[in-house]
Amino acid sequence: MIRFENVSKVYARSTRPALSDINLEIERGEFVFVVGASGSGKSTLLRLVLKEEGVTQGTVLVAGQEVGSLPHRKVPRLRREIGTVFQDFRLLPNKNVYQNVAFALQVLGRSGHAIRQVVPETLEMVGLEGKEKRLPHELSGGEQQRVAIARAFVNKPPILLCDEPTGNLDPTTSLDIVRLLDRINRTGTTIVMATHDDDIVDQLRKRVVELKNGHIIRDENKGVYGSGS
Ligand code: ADP
Ligand code: ADP
Repeated sequence: MIRFENVSKVYARSTRPALSDINLEIERGEFVFVVGASGSGKSTLLRLVLKEEGVTQGTVLVAGQEVGSLPHRKVPRLRREIGTVFQDFRLLPNKNVYQNVAFALQVLGRSGHAIRQVVPETLEMVGLEGKEKRLPHELSGGEQQRVAIARAFVNKPPILLCDEPTGNLDPTTSLDIVRLLDRINRTGTTIVMATHDDDIVDQLRKRVVELKNGHIIRDENKGVYGSGS
């Protein structure tokens, strides 16, 4: 579903590569934690999948398509295949819960009929039924992240990229959020989650890819956060 072949990324005006010679294959339906210290390259890896940044060397493939050679006009189609969730939620502050999720479908040109069907289903799945009319500032952090997840998932994308989704949440809420992501993963969605939340990684026991200074230094199934090194 996602493949990196000998990928390096050096940002403009930077000498040290953010990613060096990355080879990585993520199959359809996997749940992968990408771990590593701040600055190790986790966000860069996600940005390359979204074509928010281009590679300096190598090839990134998403669903069999080479992202690097994708013409500009086809980037929106790539991004429709990929839901994104961030640490800071990024909700529209003046839209309520229902509208935040519905908006994601409106911009795709979905019919009002389809939207009225799928938004309530999705809000129920993430545990927000009854909160449709709340504005983001009337919600807890965990609830705001549920809205963000609903918005990312409402279009049923095959891939969900999550960049530190529990970074602003307390430990109990964080575990709830990752359990929700795990449920979404069980519907067949491939999930890649960058995190430095060691408790979460240790509890879930998923595949763990560890980055250090832009290199993959560990890739293990049912892994834990720290390799002990
Ligand atoms: P992480 O997500 O693991 O914290 P990043 O991918 O954000 O790591 O950063 C990897 C490296 O690339 C760091 O050295 C960071 O300073 C650098 N970097 C990230 N974004 C940029 C940018 N837009 N311009 C230049 N350097 C960047
Ligand atoms: P349209 O005007 O496109 O037909 P709707 O009638 O579906 O849109 O929705 C108008 C507004 O009513 C929405 O933006 C939302 O705030 C609210 N709304 C619609 N359906 C629900 C619902 N099931 N629960 C809560 N609010 C809803």
